[in-house]
Amino acid sequence: MYEVIVLKDGYSKLVQTGLREAGGSITLLKGPKNIIVDTGSPWDRDVLLSGLKKHGVAPEAVHYVICTHGHSDHVGNLNLFQSCVHILSYDVCRRDQYMMHDFARGIPYEIDDFVEIWPTPGHTGADVSVIVRDTAHGTVAVTGDLFECKEDLEDPELWQDGSESPEVQQQSRIDILKIADYIVPGHGPMFQVPSEYRKHIRVVMMSEEYSYSSGNSGDAVSTSVSKSECIIVETD
Ligand SMILES: [Zn+2]
Repeated sequence: MYEVIVLKDGYSKLVQTGLREAGGSITLLKGPKNIIVDTGSPWDRDVLLSGLKKHGVAPEAVHYVICTHGHSDHVGNLNLFQSCVHILSYDVCRRDQYMMHDFARGIPYEIDDFVEIWPTPGHTGADVSVIVRDTAHGTVAVTGDLFECKEDLEDPELWQDGSESPEVQQQSRIDILKIADYIVPGHGPMFQVPSEYRKHIRVVMMSEEYSYSSGNSGDAVSTSVSKSECIIVETD
């Protein structure tokens, strides 16, 4: 069983036009393995080390460091952790040994019976989220910037502004909302998923194929395109 300990709450606020103050959440999962999810910015070294010390975990005793995506406020301080497995976006490595894992095909990476890493792209092309089951808070998802903060449930601009692909991110968000009791977002405190977001969302993928021809009559090329559309149906 794991304890989810947020060592630093993420934050983000616009201080003036063109200038934002932001820092990413840093989370320790303490249990059969010691796991850090996101390592803050390069200026968070002391916060990270003192937080670990307070909870009795030496940097050498960390088994996994997982960075949800490659933005600078989520990947500082990696070189404090020399003896663990590093997972950054879809890369899995220990020292110079890179282990192939097919996150890109949607395959989760299982650490043990309680902790899985899911590909949840959209904010960038290769984000991951960490799913922790059977905690004191039920199932907790540590998601990086897939969710900015609790308020982004009601105000989509908060997550869509920084999104490389809002359509893809929306699908990843739904995948998480279906299973998580609590979320640790990238830029706000941990929050409980409101029940209306858990129970009333069903996703139907529609796919349709169509063909078209292009080119001059002599060398016309026929192309088949498949189109996917995501429809959200609210049910109860
Ligand atoms: Zn980011």
